[in-house]
Amino acid sequence: MSANETVRIAVVGAGPAGYTAAIYAARAGNAPTIIEGLAPGGQLMITTEIENFPGFEDPVPGPELMARMRAQALRVGAEVVSDVVESVDLRSRPFRLTFGSGAEILAETVIVATGAEARWLNIPSEEKFKGRGVSACATCDGFFFRGKIVAVVGGGDTAAEEATYLTNHASKVYLVHRRGELRASKIMVERVLANPKIEMKWFRTPDEILGDDSGVTGFRIADPRTGEKEELAVDGVFIAIGHRPNTELLGGQLALDAAGYIVTQPGSTRTSVPGVFAAGDVQDPHFRQAVTSAGTGCMAALEAGKFMEEGGA
Ligand code: FAD
Ligand code: NAP
Repeated sequence: MSANETVRIAVVGAGPAGYTAAIYAARAGNAPTIIEGLAPGGQLMITTEIENFPGFEDPVPGPELMARMRAQALRVGAEVVSDVVESVDLRSRPFRLTFGSGAEILAETVIVATGAEARWLNIPSEEKFKGRGVSACATCDGFFFRGKIVAVVGGGDTAAEEATYLTNHASKVYLVHRRGELRASKIMVERVLANPKIEMKWFRTPDEILGDDSGVTGFRIADPRTGEKEELAVDGVFIAIGHRPNTELLGGQLALDAAGYIVTQPGSTRTSVPGVFAAGDVQDPHFRQAVTSAGTGCMAALEAGKFMEEGGA
């Protein structure tokens, strides 16, 4: 790839969505260029065992799964660029992408697959026990807490959904919320409050996650009204205080929803700008799984190909 070359498909992001988009685009003869950003492989690079990605009878380590996806994308002809897309100009086609290094490329179509990041509490003990009892994904890690006691932090739909889901595995779930009322939707609130395995901890903020070499052993929480502290004996703490989709590079040129996710047309990966498609967590406030990201990556590559075949209408 040289400066100012026009590529057919620029795939921004190298997670399950980006690699899958690239695999489909390359096999369709659309020579994709993946710009991999600061986290090649994406979110799964920080997880040890994935048990829910089809095709692996035994749990597969996240880095191994992503190395395989990358190798597959390269084998079928994708090009990978180690750079960050700092900004895009989507006002006219071909679109212009400017990298952190200062390089630029032009692209007939763009697939945005930049993912989303869980919001964290940003307390030192959280960082210390990430992957050893601290998680931001119940669907991913709930299975490891069979018969154990866990806490979920948050009061929105994600926290309500995570707490409810975790009762399938854990013997007890504390839902720790900083106010006296959940902001989750009515039906989710009703489900949480009716679930005998969930104990609400109202007006409680996280103070410290406690543990030892084996991982998390407790969670100290505080009442912000009185400063009074208590310790919950738990084996896991799930942080569910929201996600932040990675859309800064777009500079407001694509329509986003109220939570910051790229809006796509129903049943499609088309965005508000013709020729720009979005796949994976960056456009998905609901599922945020590797397999759904891969699925929408496939859709985006097929839709980008069709868009060019039809003359970019
Ligand atoms: P991501 O994987 O987030 O990848 C985003 C990519 O975009 C990265 O390569 C990044 O470098 C790149 N990028 C971002 N900004 C830029 C930019 N400006 N320029 C260029 N590139 C950029 N899901 C499961 O299905 N099963 C599991 O067991 C599971 N476990 C998980 C465990 C953990 C700890 C976490 C955090 C998540 C887990 N998930 C799991 C969720 C899963 O990781 C995500 O749903 C999935 O990775 C989303 O894929 P994605 O391709 O949309 O984005
Ligand atoms: P959210 O609605 O922003 O809720 C975040 C929650 O975390 C809030 O209750 C907030 O408390 C709490 N919080 C934030 N920072 C905190 C901190 N530092 N310490 C302690 N608590 C903190 O996020 P979300 O639940 O991820 O939902 C995001 C969007 O996706 C919403 O629109 C939601 O409806 C949607 N969603 C929908 C579904 C579904 O329909 N099934 C599922 C998941 C998400 P306060 O309430 O006090 O602000």
